[in-house]
Amino acid sequence: MSHLINADLHCHSTVSDGTLDPEVLAQRAKANGVELWALTDHDELGGQARAMQAAREAGLGYLTGVEISVTFLHVTVHIVGLGVDPTNPELLGGLRATRGGREERAREMAAGLAKVGIEGVFEGALKYVGNPELISRSHFARYLVEAGVCSDISAVFRKYLTEGKPGFVPHRWASLGDAVRWITQAGGMAIIAHPARYDFTPTQEYALFTEFKAHGGQGVEVLTGAHSPADALKYAAMCQEFGLLASRGSDFHSPEESRIDLGGLPDLPGNLTPVWEHLQSRIH
Ligand code: AMP
Ligand code: MN
Ligand code: MN
Ligand code: MN
Repeated sequence: MSHLINADLHCHSTVSDGTLDPEVLAQRAKANGVELWALTDHDELGGQARAMQAAREAGLGYLTGVEISVTFLHVTVHIVGLGVDPTNPELLGGLRATRGGREERAREMAAGLAKVGIEGVFEGALKYVGNPELISRSHFARYLVEAGVCSDISAVFRKYLTEGKPGFVPHRWASLGDAVRWITQAGGMAIIAHPARYDFTPTQEYALFTEFKAHGGQGVEVLTGAHSPADALKYAAMCQEFGLLASRGSDFHSPEESRIDLGGLPDLPGNLTPVWEHLQSRIH
């Protein structure tokens, strides 16, 4: 399959913290010229059958997907899995365990916000939740904008939902090794999501890439909604240094909130091997 196909291998539906249903995303991807698509909801495979069916009806190549929340060196890191068997019991069990603490965390987040005078946020955020097992900070952010506490989502994260702020609750997610193993044992490929978003020192980042490789991880997102052109160049070089495959995904969540639409990224640099060259047999 060509290097230059319009692949979009990272986005979210109402099954996690996106605002569109899987069927609507498939239509939108098709309309935007996407040729190979993956829905990668956070810690959840519940949208895969719908996405696959909708992709088939739209004539869109499909790879199953998931984005697993991991804690590495006390920082939350996201690992995308592509081409996984969505019925694999170990993967399903791992994801269920990873989702497990979300409701309690959300109640603690709401309690933290109540202490600074912002009441009723748990109930408010629930109005935006499509999957009761997946209450996320994104749902809190949408409600806090609705309530007029902040004028936009990124201001909510900056003022209330990040480390040290009143609505932030430290959380322990899956380990890096577990996440990579769940994905690979389910027949999929593990990929480091949006590496430029983590607050690592160069030494810590080197450790992430080294351990990820050692656990069997194979790819890294070079092109993604959160990366600047300089980030793309940096991670293209890291890809080559570590012998990793390159991925491309918008991380689209919502027409109102996302900077890059489905299918809206530039092409991968020609000197990298795209992840889809090693996932041919997994494409539906
Ligand atoms: P959670 O898994 O509940 O910690 O929520 C993480 C989600 O919040 C990410 O997947 C993003 O969708 C969203 N998010 C994180 N940081 C920001 C930010 N600075 N601005 C907007 N959305 C963010
Ligand atoms: Mn998200
Ligand atoms: Mn992510
Ligand atoms: Mn994502």
